[in-house]
Amino acid sequence: MKCGTVLATLAAFWAATSAHCEPIDYTVSPVSDAQGPAIRIAVGFDGDQDGETRVDLPSRWAGSDALWRSLSDFRGRGGELVPPSTEDPEHLAVRHAPGARVTLTYRVDDGQAGAPDARDYEKARPVIEGEWFQLHGEGVFAMPSGRGDAPARFAWGAVPEGWTLASDLELAAMLTADDVAHGIFVGGTALRLHEADRGGHRLRLAAVGTWDFADEALLDWLEGLVASENAMLVQTPRDFLVTLVPLTGAERGAVSFGGTGRTSGFALSSTANVPAARFTRLLAHEYAHRWFGGAWPTHDDTAADYWFSEGFDDWFSARAMVRAGLWTPAQWRAAVNEVLFRYAASSARDLSDAELTDKFWTDPDAMQMQYDRGQVVAWLLDRDLRGRGSSLLALLRGLSGELRPDESAIAALSRLAGPGRVEAARVQAARAILPADLFAPCGRLARAERPVYDRGFTLDGEDRVATVRRDGPAWRAGVRPGMGYVRRTVINWGDARQPFAAVFSDGADERELRWLPAGERIIRYQALGDGADERAECAAMVRGDGLEPAP
Ligand SMILES: [Zn+2]
Repeated sequence: MKCGTVLATLAAFWAATSAHCEPIDYTVSPVSDAQGPAIRIAVGFDGDQDGETRVDLPSRWAGSDALWRSLSDFRGRGGELVPPSTEDPEHLAVRHAPGARVTLTYRVDDGQAGAPDARDYEKARPVIEGEWFQLHGEGVFAMPSGRGDAPARFAWGAVPEGWTLASDLELAAMLTADDVAHGIFVGGTALRLHEADRGGHRLRLAAVGTWDFADEALLDWLEGLVASENAMLVQTPRDFLVTLVPLTGAERGAVSFGGTGRTSGFALSSTANVPAARFTRLLAHEYAHRWFGGAWPTHDDTAADYWFSEGFDDWFSARAMVRAGLWTPAQWRAAVNEVLFRYAASSARDLSDAELTDKFWTDPDAMQMQYDRGQVVAWLLDRDLRGRGSSLLALLRGLSGELRPDESAIAALSRLAGPGRVEAARVQAARAILPADLFAPCGRLARAERPVYDRGFTLDGEDRVATVRRDGPAWRAGVRPGMGYVRRTVINWGDARQPFAAVFSDGADERELRWLPAGERIIRYQALGDGADERAECAAMVRGDGLEPAP
């Protein structure tokens, strides 16, 4: 019988809760020895009643496998350790007196040689450099089998002198073992930790590396976003940690950034050449998951529901960017037009919602389309609601209070919007012909044209030009098969209207070539015209003004 079962049984018979069962204790300690810097982890838990507890080691997550390879030097206290075997490297066992408290400790080493590189970075693997480390819980924590829901505690062990440590779990009052496994842990002499107190709740930034912006600026932007999103939905602040660590590769022209939602925060990794505006847009989206897919759960949390949890999040967080002053209304309009263009140009444009769900994890266009079509649904539903004297934001403000026990947010949304309204918006979004006054009072949708992005050449596996589109812009700029591709010098984010530039080598000769990466296919789409977004009514609609609670 497992410890959790004992508790449940006791609770069922006695009203008073029993403390027979202690939480699982996770302790993380940075260490340095002859083998170099490492992390020592201790996991304390009550053993199973049958005298043997099986323990799961990290296995696969986020596209990485054999994560147990970073773990070694297992030791048991309070029981006899049965170490992992070559046949079953993903588990170990501890034999002990029935129900005895056991502590398992082990060493965690860097999962990859050298500083993390954009080319082959795997976030699941621990990064342990001399001056800093980053651990995603999924990559390092052992857990007694089947106890993901069990209560757990997290603590740092001894802190080396001069080190700063940060985890999103530090402030959490109640955790489960799964929460610990979904935490982020960073530290080192190179770590800079900043904190802002907002109404008794802490917003923190833990950063490593050199960036184009000051840490304080990023924390300010984050504060503005969090305050805006909380205000738009009339919610109180909560603790949140953002971590930011560097990936190498910018010197080759590699550009990479990404992030992962954590139990009480968000973990970012990036090459140094990514503009701050990309981070703030991503952070706006990620904080909004506090509600979309968080406090407002979808039933299955599968790709079938992502039109809401991702698409409505995109809709909401784009507006928060304006409210926080990080986007002008004109920048919001440009972002709207990017979605409209991407929708029209997508190879997944004509896929049904069911097909998008099927292909979500295998077809990047289908994945993006689930976000974009969801955002179009939000636009259409908002127009419908505004036409009836309400708005989508007003409806969402009431959603937490209206959710019935065990009701999914999508069901509640459909109920509150009125019979058939959400379904009608979804059907219309899939057709992608939008009413011209969709964004009134921000102007009208009009026809627009833009070529697709096509850089016009392909590379072989060794950074040599393999093929060049004959007489295309790259060809006319001088790119030829066989040339070496040295590095990109301009990052244009896949926009055919912005120049592409890179250094190519031809024998000993190196030179920068530059052209507009316009493909042959011209996309006709609907776009929001210039000017009207400067009207005060437009900015007010985007920001969600006029919905303030009465003073
Ligand atoms: Zn998301």
